[in-house]
Amino acid sequence: MPEIEQENATVVPEESSDLSFFDGPTTVVRFPPFDPKGPPRFEYAEHRYLGDYISLQMDDGSKKLGSDVLFTLKNKSLLRYGEINAFAGDFYGSYYPISDGTNFEYQCTRFSNVFWYLNENESRTPGELPVLKDLMKEEVDLFNEAIRNHEDPSVAYSKLKDMTKKLINATIGRPLTQPGYLGLAAINWDHFGEHAHIVYTAGHTLALREASKPDGNLNVAYTINAFANHFLEDSFSAGHVRTPRKQLHGTFDKSADYCAKYMHDEESAIGLAVTNKRGDKWHMYGDKKLKDDVDDQNAKLCLEAVQTSADEVYAA
Ligand SMILES: [Zn+2]
Repeated sequence: MPEIEQENATVVPEESSDLSFFDGPTTVVRFPPFDPKGPPRFEYAEHRYLGDYISLQMDDGSKKLGSDVLFTLKNKSLLRYGEINAFAGDFYGSYYPISDGTNFEYQCTRFSNVFWYLNENESRTPGELPVLKDLMKEEVDLFNEAIRNHEDPSVAYSKLKDMTKKLINATIGRPLTQPGYLGLAAINWDHFGEHAHIVYTAGHTLALREASKPDGNLNVAYTINAFANHFLEDSFSAGHVRTPRKQLHGTFDKSADYCAKYMHDEESAIGLAVTNKRGDKWHMYGDKKLKDDVDDQNAKLCLEAVQTSADEVYAA
């Protein structure tokens, strides 16, 4: 079990986030009512889409679409890159947020411990995955159908039944050391702002280390990177950029957590004017809008970031 943690003395300076704000125009678009049900998260189908549509360079030099590569994890789970993107953090995590690690190597250790729950745990993971995939199938089908019909997936999302209770039930019998669906959502600041950047950097570094070892395994490196890419992708969701999720958290009084949810929903709907170090300036929307027409540039830049991340693993 990965619960025993040791501080490591190595300290690597953290980079600042690539995302900052500029005084560009802010266009106000549809403003749906707040949905108090379910935790704030970039949706399962959106994460999956990103991993499914990147190109993966394989050991034999061939290039394959992410959706065409089935990875075998250590516990014999069979998952695609996009499925690992989608399950990371939101469904598989620990009670120890990765970004709370006090130095870079400790954050890497915490990342490995969190990845363990998906990659190695045999008490829950392999058996649970078909159940979770089945529960998320309706969302994925609706999302893909909307794209095929050139409709905004956010409209399709409004027709979806809330799955929170079923997801809670599917993960409720986990050991006390492994948080279930709601337990993860309660402490999910790893998915927000600078925290997401820290988690991505730790996971991507571990993937690069695996890929560059003399006996490194490219497929293993891709699975680690796919888990890390979840947090990179979250950084392209407006509701995750500024919401001070860790500060808006209470152990018993949940009013601050509701404020985080409201801020997340508001900024996801209205969007943010953002820029990056390369000089791109665009309007970023949030969860459920990744493949809406209005968020097209954001989706392209996010996909480019994930593709670059995977290419770096191959190049290592
Ligand atoms: Zn997330």
